[in-house]
Amino acid sequence: MKAEILSIGTELLMGEIVDTNSSYLSAQLPPLGIDLYWISTVGDNAERLGEVLARAWSRSHLIITTGGLGPTKDDLTRESIAQLLREEMVVDAALEERLRAGFTRRGLTMPSSNLKQASLIPSTQSLPNPRGTAPGWWVEKEGRIIVALPGPPPEMRGMWQEEVLPRLQQRSTGEMLFSRTLKTAGLMEATLDEMLTPWLSAANPTVAIYAKEDGVHVRLAAKARSQEEAQAAITPLEEKIRSLIEDYIWGVDDDSLEKRIGALLLERGLTLATMESCTGGLLADTITNVPGSSNFFRGGLVSYTNQTKMALGIEPELLSRYGAVSPEVAEAMAATCRQRLGADIGVSTTGVAGPDLLEGKPVGTVHIGVVDGHKKHITSHRFQPNRLSVKRRGALTALVQLRRFLLSQL
Ligand code: AMP
Ligand code: MG
Repeated sequence: MKAEILSIGTELLMGEIVDTNSSYLSAQLPPLGIDLYWISTVGDNAERLGEVLARAWSRSHLIITTGGLGPTKDDLTRESIAQLLREEMVVDAALEERLRAGFTRRGLTMPSSNLKQASLIPSTQSLPNPRGTAPGWWVEKEGRIIVALPGPPPEMRGMWQEEVLPRLQQRSTGEMLFSRTLKTAGLMEATLDEMLTPWLSAANPTVAIYAKEDGVHVRLAAKARSQEEAQAAITPLEEKIRSLIEDYIWGVDDDSLEKRIGALLLERGLTLATMESCTGGLLADTITNVPGSSNFFRGGLVSYTNQTKMALGIEPELLSRYGAVSPEVAEAMAATCRQRLGADIGVSTTGVAGPDLLEGKPVGTVHIGVVDGHKKHITSHRFQPNRLSVKRRGALTALVQLRRFLLSQL
C-alpha cells in the first residue's frame, strides 16, 4: 500500500512549529507494511490544499492528513476533502449532540463556528476524539483511504493508536518491515558507502547508511510476512557485511556505546574516572546514563579553566609549553583523574568548542586521552565547528577510543 502524509498548517511553513506529526506517523507505517512515499506540507489555503490533496489522491492508496480540523475559517481540511470527492458536507445530528455535550460538561456554550466539526460526507466515518473537540475522518472511496487527523500531537497520536491503527492492521497485507542496525565507529560514511555499494541499490532487503553522532549506522531492512522470514533474508546479508567491517562494529539495534562500555568494564572488573575540559561534564553524564554505573565509574572532574587544571594537578609548565588544547595535556589529564580518583583507567577530553579559536587552535579540535598504569592511547580529532556538536561528538568519541583501548588490552 502506497501512502502519503499531508501536514496542514501555515504555522508549519512559517517555521513556527516543527512537523512532529509526520515524523511520528512515518515511524508507525513500516511495521504495518505500508510504504510511505511522500510527505507534503501545505498552508491553510483552500486552493493549494486542494492541489496537494488531488495529487495525493492520484498517486497514493492511503493519505493521512494532520491539522486543519479546527473550528475556524482557516481550518479547511474537511472542506477540501469534500470538494475533492465532490460530496456535500452535512451536519450529523448525533455528532452535533456529542459536541454540544462536551461544551456543556465544561460549563460552556458551543460557538456556532464549532458546528462544522460535526459534519460528515457520505464516504466518511467519524473518528472520536476524547482529547479535543475535533473528530477525525476515515474516508473510503474508489479503493483509496483518506484519514484526517487533528493537528495537536496528543490528539493526533491518541486517535491514531485507538482508531486508525486497528483499522489499518485489519487491512494489512501481512507484509511487515523488519530491520537490523549495525553501529560502527572509525569508518567514514563515504568509505562505507563504497564498501557496501553492491547492496545499496537492492530492493529487498535494503541497505542504508546513516551518519550519526555515535558513528555511522548501517541499516538492513527486509520486508516479509513473519519475523522468521525476515531473519532468513537479513542473516546471510548481515554475515557478508560483517565480514567486511566486523572490526568497526560496536553494537546493534538499540545498543548504546555507554552500555557496551559499562558491560566491558564490569566484565573485566575495571574502574573508570574522567577529566573533562571542552565536553564540560557531558562524558560523565553519558557514562552515568547506564544503570549501575557506580559499579565501574569512580567519578569525573570538570576542569574548565587552566587554573582549575593546575589546582587539580596539571603541571603549569605543560600548559604553558603546549597549551591546554594539546595531546600532552590530554594525557596528563587522563593520568591525573586516574590517580586522584583511584581508578584503573582515566579518560580525558580537551578541545575547542567555539565559536572562537583557543590558543590559535581551530574550533572543533579535540584531543582525547585514555591511560591505565601501563599504556596510553592519545588521539586527536577535528569535528564540525558547531559548539554543541563538538561537545557531543567529543564525549562519544572519547567512549569510542575507550572501547578501542579496552579491546586492544585483550
Ligand atoms: P490545526 O488543527 O491545524 O489548527 O492545528 C492545531 C495545533 O496543532 C497547531 O497550532 C499546532 O500546535 C499543532 N500542530 C498542527 N500540525 C502539527 C504538526 N504537523 N506537527 C506538530 N504539531 C502540529
Ligand atoms: Mg491550523
